[in-house]
Amino acid sequence: MNRSLPTPTLTLEVKSLLAYALIPILIVFPASLYVAYQGINDSLRNIAVTFQERIEDVITELKDENAQAMKYPERCEAIQEDLLFESYLRELIIVQDGVAICSSKRGELHLDLTGVFKRNEAKSGVFLFDIKGDPRQRTMVVVTAQEDRANSGAFAIVDKNYLVERLGKVEDDKLSFITARFGQKIYPADRTFVSDTLHYTSTSSLYGFSLLVEASPAFIKRRAIFYGLSSLPLSLLISITLFAVMSHIRNRDSLVDDLKKGLKRKELFLAYQPIVDSQTETLTGLEALIRWQHPTLGLIRPDVFIPLAERQQLINTITDYVLERTLADLQSIANFNGIHLGINVPPSYLHDESHLINLHSYARQFRHIGIQLTVEVTEREILDDKGRTALADLRKSGILVSIDDFGTGHTALSVIQKTQFDYLKIDKCFVDTIGLETVNSTVLNTIIDLGHRLGVKMIAEGVEEQNQVEYLAKMNVSYLQGYHFSKPLELDDLKESWL
Ligand code: C2E
Ligand code: CA
Ligand code: CA
Repeated sequence: MNRSLPTPTLTLEVKSLLAYALIPILIVFPASLYVAYQGINDSLRNIAVTFQERIEDVITELKDENAQAMKYPERCEAIQEDLLFESYLRELIIVQDGVAICSSKRGELHLDLTGVFKRNEAKSGVFLFDIKGDPRQRTMVVVTAQEDRANSGAFAIVDKNYLVERLGKVEDDKLSFITARFGQKIYPADRTFVSDTLHYTSTSSLYGFSLLVEASPAFIKRRAIFYGLSSLPLSLLISITLFAVMSHIRNRDSLVDDLKKGLKRKELFLAYQPIVDSQTETLTGLEALIRWQHPTLGLIRPDVFIPLAERQQLINTITDYVLERTLADLQSIANFNGIHLGINVPPSYLHDESHLINLHSYARQFRHIGIQLTVEVTEREILDDKGRTALADLRKSGILVSIDDFGTGHTALSVIQKTQFDYLKIDKCFVDTIGLETVNSTVLNTIIDLGHRLGVKMIAEGVEEQNQVEYLAKMNVSYLQGYHFSKPLELDDLKESWL
């Protein structure tokens, strides 16, 4: 039987998951190795500079000793005494006219060195010198030549063991070796001044010698592993963040697309919440509240998609949709007896002349079925001059204006005073304070007092308890809206229970 196997293909999702996982690591891993390399380099530089400074100190000190000894070259005994306990000095020799006349170690002497100087005039400086011509006994010599007398001066020879301690033996496990170069000569003699791995070279600006320090393989490995491993959680974190951000953007974009489709397919519908007279508790108005029945996500609350629609410039389309649907819904019911219908209108809607004409037209059609259109504008979205003029214009043609969520924004009272409106809607958060002794319960009384002074009627939102009903009625708040009377209802339920 010839059964063909399915060809393994990577779906787009798997590919992008792989990309989120791999891209950060491809960036972070090399970056962390680079950081490790920089760290090694810094360590090497610090070590090299420390060694360089130590050697410079020794040279400076020996130069001083040379100068001191040359002041009274004939007082060999004093020189000897002076230098007896210098730990790093092997021997200081005073030479005059090519003849060694004093040694800090051996005392007065008469050693003809003219053979040595024949080829090489004594020059001041720091050199490497092989004791008895043996490169294994190579050490450093600090020469201070006497300027006015040929082949004369002081020669401070550094103790070989001191150099071995300082440069020959490397105790720091970060290093493979240290090599010094003085002119053409290298210390230790059996090395070359090259490295084929991570190293650092420093040169003394005071005395011209150079040092090369080479990182040990163990040190390189340790650092590479440490930084390499620490890059893993970091890139994992970046991967997760990247994934979260991308899926958030994708979800949001797809929700916006869904919303556009939903408006076309009429997936959005309205719920109506009754508003009652506080004295008689009879129906005086309705607020239209939008809902979205998403085909896969189910019912979506306006708190989720209204802010999204505002950001995506879809909010005016929604307002038009609400006006159209509400009219269609309520036209299907017989005549209303002059009740108010609150529609939530964002201030941006009022900026466009065509929208105002639209509102006028709807207000007329609602009036035909006995409904008084009320525009609810939130206090938080402070109205500008244009918006206020538009509201005044709407009121002239008989549309009512309600200030929604009053007290939750930070509109100056002067702005409220300049705005023409018919109702103040007191936000639920103030109604909730009834019966509680809080700062906001004082605010509630202040708001109610302000409403009375401004001569406008008030609607209390979010009324849930009997004591709230009683208190608000006592305070002459004209209208009440809240779960105590009814939740927002779908059209059929509204018809059944209230009309
Ligand atoms: P809103 O204009 O302040 O609407 C009142 C909200 O309070 C409604 O929430 C309503 O269901 C809720 N509510 C009423 N009585 C009670 C109560 O006793 N207790 C509690 N806990 N809540 C109560 P909803 O319908 O979820 O609407 C939320 C907000 O979404 C509205 O606040 C409004 O700002 C916005 N919105 C709703 N429909 C529309 C619309 O058609 N257009 C625009 N632009 N915004 C809308
Ligand atoms: Ca409202
Ligand atoms: Ca409100």
